[in-house]
Amino acid sequence: MKTETLFFINPATGSGFGEIKMTRVEDVEKAVNDMRQAFPIWSAKTLKERIKILRKFQAVLINQQDEITRVLNQDCGKSRQDGLIELFITVDMLAQYCAKAPSWLKPKRVSSGLYFFKKSVVEYKPHGVTAVLSPWNYPLTLALPPMLAALLAGNTVVLKPSEVTGATGMLIEKLINQVPELAPFVRVVHGDGTVGAALTQARPDFIFLTGSSATGKKIMQTAAEFLTPIALELGGKDAMLVLEDADLQAAARWGTWGAFFNAGQTCMSVERVYVVESKYDEFVKLAVTYAKNFKTGYTTDFNSPFSMGPITDPRQVKIIERHLEDALAKGASLLTGGKTEGMFFDPMVLINVNHTMLLMRDETFGPLLPIMKVKDEAEAIRLANDSAYGLGASVWSQNPSHAKAVADQIHAASIIINDCIAQFGIPMLPFGGVKESGFGRTHGQEGLMQFTRPYSYAVGNPPLKWDIATILRENGYYHLATGIMGVLYGTSIKQRWNALGKLFNKNNH
Ligand code: NAD
Repeated sequence: MKTETLFFINPATGSGFGEIKMTRVEDVEKAVNDMRQAFPIWSAKTLKERIKILRKFQAVLINQQDEITRVLNQDCGKSRQDGLIELFITVDMLAQYCAKAPSWLKPKRVSSGLYFFKKSVVEYKPHGVTAVLSPWNYPLTLALPPMLAALLAGNTVVLKPSEVTGATGMLIEKLINQVPELAPFVRVVHGDGTVGAALTQARPDFIFLTGSSATGKKIMQTAAEFLTPIALELGGKDAMLVLEDADLQAAARWGTWGAFFNAGQTCMSVERVYVVESKYDEFVKLAVTYAKNFKTGYTTDFNSPFSMGPITDPRQVKIIERHLEDALAKGASLLTGGKTEGMFFDPMVLINVNHTMLLMRDETFGPLLPIMKVKDEAEAIRLANDSAYGLGASVWSQNPSHAKAVADQIHAASIIINDCIAQFGIPMLPFGGVKESGFGRTHGQEGLMQFTRPYSYAVGNPPLKWDIATILRENGYYHLATGIMGVLYGTSIKQRWNALGKLFNKNNH
């Protein structure tokens, strides 16, 4: 493959601000091989040593915060406050993981059952070389936490950041290199999907993708070839359900926030709203008011007056326009917002929408909020579940236990009640998907443990004549064995009593 170049373009201004050479396929393979060589050294370090090194990286992240928000601001067009949110979530997660890892990764003694004379233990071993592939919408916080979790668990890592936000990828590499004790155990490869494909084909021991469902399916095919274990954090079409007793002001305020934060380029952003009939008109009015409060624009200042930046990826602009056109052609009404200039949109609120429209079925990943009137909450639940995706959902009601009962009927991996999208910012809550939103988890104990494989061992003296397991195998002890099984595991007094009889039946011996 010839070497190609990734050009850095600020989506807010359209101006270029740098470039980096894409990694060649042979160098991707070399990166995986290097990390395979480095794996025994990193995994042999004690957890305490790995935590110490990762805390140095945490210090670098904090020291370099202004540089990080500067690059995110140029690379994505997002405000520096929004960049800081990415960094904050990353540092919070790393700190909490470092605190919890010693107890989570500790070997666990388990019951030996019939083999009670042995000691049985589960240890948690790293997979080996982990490939982390990340997207462009949160290029820091979707690349670093899985990378750091994998390292903490003892894996070495090859990271492939998104080609759309190549400057952040380059920055991440620079930050890693500022910790000399960490640098030998991570490689960053740069480039587009062809580089990602080369990485998954280079036979890493585990693959962690955050990206679209389409890419997830391709990676799963490659993984199937080598039976490589994978985790897929994919797209979503999250529903928001506004029930009869919802606080409508709060629902409209935070529902629009959940739809338009990061210009709707959030995997679990609010992509469809179902409001019960009696509250529909008022909710729509409030949602339009709140949508109009968003100010769209771009500044490099630390404090931005703008609550929404541009779309980061030009390909995404086309998808958003297609969804809008399709909805309008099928009878939807746009109440506010629309395309302004360049890669900017003002927040859009649509009504008269239905499930024949792309914007109610496919992931839009943009600042579009379609609101649909439903007869009652049963219809809201049915429509929420009428989706190929199952990432998250939100339910709004002033009765939390009722909201939870409704939430439990939605087929999604995470639910939030009386808020939107905030569940991602809670590092101890595992986050992921069901259906075409993928499988595997990021965050929480499950998010760390998936970078390990359970390794089990049992230890003891060689079997003795009177060990139960030995007796079971001895010829002539069949009835004695059935007696033991019945006494130990009989599910009624009668069953146990009968089994006891067998134990004392002289014909057993
Ligand atoms: P994408 O699937 O296009 O790319 C993700 C990464 O995979 C990139 O690094 C890309 O270069 C790489 N890639 C692309 N094709 C590949 C291939 N054939 N083999 C290997 N790697 C390949 O996604 P995107 O457009 O960067 O990101 C947006 C998508 O990510 C949306 O669908 C969004 O919902 C999803 N997302 C999911 C989560 C989550 O936690 N579930 C979080 C953020 C974004």
